[in-house]
Amino acid sequence: MKNKILGIIGGGQLGRMIALSASHLGINSHIYDPNPDSPAFDVASDIFNNEYSDIEAVKKFAKGVDVCVYEFENIPIRTAQTIEDLCPLRPSSKVLAISQDRLLEKKFLSDKAKVKTAPFYECNNIDDLKTATKYLNKSAILKTRRLGYDGKGQVRINKDSNLETIWKKVGDNQSIVEGFISFQRELSVIIARSIDADIKIYDCVENRHKNHILDETIAPAPHLKNKVQNSAEEIAIRIANELNLIGLLAVEMFEMEDGELVVNEIAPRPHNSGHWTMDGCTTSQFEQSVRAAMGWPLGSTLRNVDIVMKNLIGKEINLINTFLEDSRYKTYSYGKKEVREGRKMGHINRIIEKDSNVSKFMP
Ligand code: ATP
Ligand code: MG
Repeated sequence: MKNKILGIIGGGQLGRMIALSASHLGINSHIYDPNPDSPAFDVASDIFNNEYSDIEAVKKFAKGVDVCVYEFENIPIRTAQTIEDLCPLRPSSKVLAISQDRLLEKKFLSDKAKVKTAPFYECNNIDDLKTATKYLNKSAILKTRRLGYDGKGQVRINKDSNLETIWKKVGDNQSIVEGFISFQRELSVIIARSIDADIKIYDCVENRHKNHILDETIAPAPHLKNKVQNSAEEIAIRIANELNLIGLLAVEMFEMEDGELVVNEIAPRPHNSGHWTMDGCTTSQFEQSVRAAMGWPLGSTLRNVDIVMKNLIGKEINLINTFLEDSRYKTYSYGKKEVREGRKMGHINRIIEKDSNVSKFMP
């Protein structure tokens, strides 16, 4: 019997963990990334070290795999469509197009999926910025529509901001201005939807950021009211169904003081806030993305233990040695050759006895 082959676009840590999960299911992975130092290349059975614009290489890649997934959103749509013409891309290029453009994404969320988002305005020039900021009572965030991650390409605007200066510095002729949301905390859920529209959802978790980068995820979100868990699930289901999703999708949300949920953004792939599932659930988010893509039955999303996940950013990777001998901690290093400030180098899952109310990484 010939092993199935999974194509993975993007060779970062998420691609690496998808490939490792695929290998546990007997599936080989071919990985496409223009960066020769991609950490996922170490665990691939074949690599395509080509530019995303190299359509001939993209075609060769797509012809050699049974199905294809991606680990990030910023893939040129033409590349995604070229792949989709030759093999199933899951989630589809339509889902990718929506999630890679903050304006299309916000419009989809509010108009099609009909979930609550921050108020938003398209912003293509300084006049748009002035008008939007006025409507939003001078409490806003200017974001580029594309290519943002870890808070990059964003500026907070308040009543003291000089809009001309901000626009000159970071203005992009394709931006969006969002009203600033005074949320209580940040939550996320990860949903999988199969080829038969079967749905599985992981527990809603709390995400804490440091310097605009995810620092810790607490699973489950501490003291989460049932009502809020239910509405997080309903929101995720509505979005997944409306997208006709086949694959995995993360939904980032803000929880307001009264428990209302405001959707911030969606990511149609395994997500950093789902790394806890590697040790908290029988089926990790990575395995789930492979199952969904392959058209296989989805696995259980039941949480077996509570987990606090801590990202190891930059030099924090050296912390790994401290935790290697302690059986309560499961350590992961992504094998990145160069330690850089703000770079995600690895993570640690702290395994906690179920329902023991621990909500911190350090003991
Ligand atoms: P990431 O890669 O971490 O998901 P990103 O660059 O894609 O980040 P967002 O998720 O939109 O961008 O924003 C990053 C963070 O900025 C959010 O997690 C949240 O803390 C804050 N933020 C974003 N939008 C708003 C808003 N409208 N009101 C208040 N805070 C916001
Ligand atoms: Mg985000």
